[in-house]
Amino acid sequence: MSFELSVPEKIVFGKGTLARLGELVSAFGNRAMIVHGANPDRARTVEGLLAQSTTCLYSVRNEPTIEDIAKGVEEAKSKQVSFVIGVGGGSVIDAAKAISGLVTNAGEILDYLEVIGRGNPLTKPGLPCVAIPTTAGTGAEVTKNAVIASLEHQIKVSLRSPFLLPRIALVDPELTYSLPAHVTIATGLDALTQLIEPLVSSRANPATDGLCREGIPRVARSLAAVVQNGKNFAAREEMALASLFGGLALANAGLGAVHGFAGPIGGMFNTSHGLTCGILLPFVVDANIRALRLRAPDSIALGRYDEIGRVLTGSPQALATDASAWLTDLNKALNVPKLSSLNIPKESIPEIAGKAAKASSTKANPIELTLPELQAILEAAW
Ligand SMILES: [Zn+2]
Repeated sequence: MSFELSVPEKIVFGKGTLARLGELVSAFGNRAMIVHGANPDRARTVEGLLAQSTTCLYSVRNEPTIEDIAKGVEEAKSKQVSFVIGVGGGSVIDAAKAISGLVTNAGEILDYLEVIGRGNPLTKPGLPCVAIPTTAGTGAEVTKNAVIASLEHQIKVSLRSPFLLPRIALVDPELTYSLPAHVTIATGLDALTQLIEPLVSSRANPATDGLCREGIPRVARSLAAVVQNGKNFAAREEMALASLFGGLALANAGLGAVHGFAGPIGGMFNTSHGLTCGILLPFVVDANIRALRLRAPDSIALGRYDEIGRVLTGSPQALATDASAWLTDLNKALNVPKLSSLNIPKESIPEIAGKAAKASSTKANPIELTLPELQAILEAAW
């Protein structure tokens, strides 16, 4: 047995921990860039906690584009920023990670981007980056890649480097208390997918298994509860923890076919990542179980799907197929639509399946799915 585990230097979790921000960043210098989403309220709160620092605010709406990052890097350099804070959802945190990494590395962003750029590795550590998630879903606070959109190429690609891992992940569940239901659903289903895929991944290891086993039951008992009552703060806390564990698990054990699909679909049709994952999850689980029973009946992943079935349903007799049935029921209860509602033309199924087959996430799927199997998943989820 051998594995590696990459995690931030420090993870701080708990209700009210945002108040500790000033103390946590005291070694990072006194010029901060605060990256935030459309609404600057949270960034203003963060600013108030950094009385010792000069701060500048930088807004990123939606998923960051190459231009957003380039402008942010320029601004960080001109203001001689010494550390970067991202406070927001996954896109905001990814932008903060990318900006902090590129400020210290010469050249332009395309030198380092995969697929559409030159794919060079970052050679220097970035500025210290503090990631403060305000959703419970993406786990971006503990991962080492940033998803960047290229408007010119109509594609989303990753900037990847061990240097993009935030120095501090500060997860304060209180920041998720006011999330609207549709964001709670989309990000919560992403968290669930990011706990199930690493547990059955071909790259799973005992440390990530432990994280998934702690995380899955928390989503099982808390996601529907928190959608029903956003003020259920105990359930909010469980979702925030599950999301953190999912991020740690995926960063170290990889994902699977759900994310293999979600990448190209998001790039081609600009869909919500979490919702896309949530729609596909029951169908991919079902297809994986059938393929494993047919071609790899002794696979350890089948036993893990049985385990997931038991955890989700709470029944000791449950089997793998009970997991996919439970996930289907959850989607019905949460009114999760089908793929057809995302305005994706049905003719694109072969193209999406072809891209998913080659996606890096798909490589960690517990069994290699054939092109017809990938297409059948999309057709079933339509
Ligand atoms: Zn995801």
